[in-house]
Amino acid sequence: MRTDRSPVPETDICDLCARRLTDGCQMGVVPDSSAIHARSPARDGRRLVVACSPEHLAALQQEYRTRPYVPEELWAGQIDRAQALQPKVLSRDALSAAAGLSLLEVQRALAWKNRDRRRYEQDPQTPEVG
Ligand SMILES: [Zn+2]
Repeated sequence: MRTDRSPVPETDICDLCARRLTDGCQMGVVPDSSAIHARSPARDGRRLVVACSPEHLAALQQEYRTRPYVPEELWAGQIDRAQALQPKVLSRDALSAAAGLSLLEVQRALAWKNRDRRRYEQDPQTPEVG
């Protein structure tokens, strides 16, 4: 069946107010230690945000500036990405090589993940970062 009507294009929403971005948008990159790119390690730790106006983009940038940037969280995400590509659980040495991290960074990231998991188990309402 043929129709003359074009499909409604996919639209994104403002990361601050959730308004549909039908008339263009403002974009910016903010620091975020929870942001792990699927394929490009060079883009880890930075998140693209979109907003409906310069004012909402500025508010988002300010929000991210006040969030803690936790290197251990970034390294934990990089370890998770590296491990996900492997058929078996890697040793710390192999994790270090696969994730491109030092052994000390791997150790600190794994300790952070354990603390974060215990914190979550004690109080599931607590956010998993920090
Ligand atoms: Zn907005």
